[in-house]
Amino acid sequence: MGLGVMQRFSYGLFVLTAREGEKENGCIINTAMQVTANPNCISVAVNKQNYTHDMILRTGRLAVSIISEEADFALFTRFGFQSGREVNKFEGFSDVKRTADGLLAVTAGTNAYVSAKVVTTQDLGTHTLFIAEVTEMEELSDAPSATYAFYHTSIKPQPEKKSSQTETKQTVWRCKICGYEYVGDTLPEDYICPLCKHPASDFEKVE
Ligand code: FE
Repeated sequence: MGLGVMQRFSYGLFVLTAREGEKENGCIINTAMQVTANPNCISVAVNKQNYTHDMILRTGRLAVSIISEEADFALFTRFGFQSGREVNKFEGFSDVKRTADGLLAVTAGTNAYVSAKVVTTQDLGTHTLFIAEVTEMEELSDAPSATYAFYHTSIKPQPEKKSSQTETKQTVWRCKICGYEYVGDTLPEDYICPLCKHPASDFEKVE
């Protein structure tokens, strides 16, 4: 059925942030875009498994920081490969700006941010689609916005060529999202990447 077709859509990359009381949190998404100019509204689709999702649902506020080509992999490991349920993702992280709505925008490895108020919510099953009206926005740098494709070619660490087989000739499965490698002849169907939490379907057998 040509699943590769869906990978030919271009996607940006964003740090989606929320605040609930004293709790600050954020996650990496590739599903934000402007949908109307007047009023200035964006759409954001968020996987329900993200703690940020629940915070936005409860508070009706979100901020989107647009990741640029100058972002380093650490930004992705910090906001993408751990859960805000277990850690404070902003701990020891000072590249932030407080928006007028009281949210934290990320100011390093990003080229702009918007702060927005949710006006419509649509349940999509695995995800919730938020339509939000922009209340504040600012340009931060002239660096080009990073695409999902750019992340894969230029930000994610490239695995070493020799890793297709270990010394004992075992098969290696590599996570297409973060590069994590699983060693074993078969990858369990219910396997979840320990780094980025993506499912087995996002792993590929390394040739
Ligand atoms: Fe992964």
